[in-house]
Amino acid sequence: MVKPRKKRNVLYPPKALYFKPQGRQPSNQPDVILTIDEYEAIRLADHRKLKQEEAAKKMNISRPTFTRLIESARNKIAQAIVNGRPIRIEGGDFIFLKNRIKCRSCGYVWESKTSNTNQVNCPSCYSSEVEDVGRSLTRGPRRRRRGPRW
Ligand SMILES: [Zn+2]
Repeated sequence: MVKPRKKRNVLYPPKALYFKPQGRQPSNQPDVILTIDEYEAIRLADHRKLKQEEAAKKMNISRPTFTRLIESARNKIAQAIVNGRPIRIEGGDFIFLKNRIKCRSCGYVWESKTSNTNQVNCPSCYSSEVEDVGRSLTRGPRRRRRGPRW
């Protein structure tokens, strides 16, 4: 029997989901896939410099689970930068505590406490063509894409 995993807390959707080495020819090496909960572990421990215990608490997981998560994340990032492989952030077992909204017209991204995108206008260009970033990341398995969508 597999124990159902607790969902990990992630504060916000990442700002960028795809990182690609500049000037590198397309290769047969697959992208490194960093899950969104691994991204959050990096953000808390390495960017915000929290102690692992505090970071684990924020993500609502145990300290040993956090240690495994951050080690896996660092290993993947090392693989990518040493071998020149792109990093794609997607998937994982998580919920977003807050949200980001993205403007489809100009690409501006801002933070929001709600995921209600009705009657929301872009603060930059006033377009009403806006997208709930959190929802599009949690909406089931996504089709594999080879590169970023423009
Ligand atoms: Zn806009």
